[in-house]
Amino acid sequence: MPISWTNLGVSLILVIVIPEIVLYYRNRFKKRSETSSDHMNEVMFFTDKGLDCKEHVYSRLTCLKESCAYRNLRRLIQLVEEATSSLDICMFFFTCQDLSEAIISVHRKGVRVRVITDAEMADGRGTQIPELRKYGVPVRMKKSVSLMHHKFIIINNHMLVSGSCNWTMKAFTENWENILVTSVPNLVMPFSHHFSQLWKEFSELDYKFQV
Ligand SMILES: [Zn+2]
Repeated sequence: MPISWTNLGVSLILVIVIPEIVLYYRNRFKKRSETSSDHMNEVMFFTDKGLDCKEHVYSRLTCLKESCAYRNLRRLIQLVEEATSSLDICMFFFTCQDLSEAIISVHRKGVRVRVITDAEMADGRGTQIPELRKYGVPVRMKKSVSLMHHKFIIINNHMLVSGSCNWTMKAFTENWENILVTSVPNLVMPFSHHFSQLWKEFSELDYKFQV
């Protein structure tokens, strides 16, 4: 049977063109999926009803409330414990004992931990700063009329945790607060750079004896 040009054209389309189109769209979809899953993004919200979840303090059960203060706190502790090379903390006021213990534990494993805080709040009621220093965690601050009001941490120079709340149980359980967790380099790197600048500018002196 003679091969017509029409049949040959249809065969070429079926054998060559269609697989190319399928491959193109498959790769395009794969690339998009990889881009969205390459980076971790997460948000946490805290509300004024945090104390309603008080029974979850020591419970490892998953609470169904998205804004469960204790679930969020456990997640923060987990993020701190993920530090294997470095942990940079820039926190205005820090009184949360559970997070302090997690930081000390990470520090004792040999992770490079650096803490920047506000000079006045370092001496605030319930502050964990003396406890961190007792275990040799380097802490820097600067005597100033301005506040060191940041609340962010950088884990392994790769993950940024930033938001509105101080690391206090009041903030976690009684305030409306937010925390954003991201590994997007365009967001992590400027924070890392800013932390380095503050680390150079601030000192390890304890200003409470100098005011
Ligand atoms: Zn809960």
